[in-house]
Amino acid sequence: MDLRVVTLFPKMLDLFGKYGVTGRAVEAGRVRLSGINPRDFADDLHGTVDDRPYGGGPGMVMKVQPLEKAWCAAKQGLAGDYQTVILSPEGRSFDAGVARKLAKLDGLILICGRYEGIDQRFYELTQAEVVSLGDFVLSGGELAALVVADSVVRLLPGVLGDDESANQDSFCAGLLDYPHYTRPESFEGQQVPDVLLSGDHGAIARWRLKQALGRTWRLRPDLLAGRTLSDEEQVLLDQYKLEFEQNSSE
Ligand code: SAH
Repeated sequence: MDLRVVTLFPKMLDLFGKYGVTGRAVEAGRVRLSGINPRDFADDLHGTVDDRPYGGGPGMVMKVQPLEKAWCAAKQGLAGDYQTVILSPEGRSFDAGVARKLAKLDGLILICGRYEGIDQRFYELTQAEVVSLGDFVLSGGELAALVVADSVVRLLPGVLGDDESANQDSFCAGLLDYPHYTRPESFEGQQVPDVLLSGDHGAIARWRLKQALGRTWRLRPDLLAGRTLSDEEQVLLDQYKLEFEQNSSE
């Protein structure tokens, strides 16, 4: 997959290829990430990329011309299916569904804003999908682009090893993840649940599903609202609720 990030601060992208899963994906050639700087496409000697807003008011606005040229450069040489995404607070909320959709592409161009944002005409011109990380404001789109890139790359086939499979992560089946434990068996009086030490794989799988359902019911009931439970899932969730109510009344 080709990831091209249009940004005034391409150095911020260095993190991606340096650490952990995304670092290995770059090393293995599974993904290429490059930065394209609108400043290199400015039409004056000073490399001007921003200007004062029409109508007045605070701050600066990213100019459309250098961005449009950088976007065209970013598209150069992209083969197969690709898409442009602008990072902006007004966009559609980024989630696992959007990540799965983007992970099917061969190329992804991520556009990062700075200052007060980007001249509106760039949105019209690109017809790009607009994606937000949530209802808060960052100082620039770079961290948002890295978040999107990271969550997309871990979904690409072959990027995660079998034992860290994305199929088991939160949201994959519309549920939160089950709780994880590693050694020691006992820490400051807290024990690892017996079932995980039992070696009974069927019982472990049922316990994990029950925990995933129960935790989703407790912490993110909105996720369960849009999901039909199988008979087994309903039984496990009812058990979880019963145990939860018993524990809280003790
Ligand atoms: N004036 C804008 C904020 C601009 S912040 C507003 O009030 O909506 C500068 C840039 O940071 C934006 O252009 C965008 O690229 C990025 N950014 C800020 N918050 C973001 C968020 N929640 N999700 C994605 N990108 C964001």
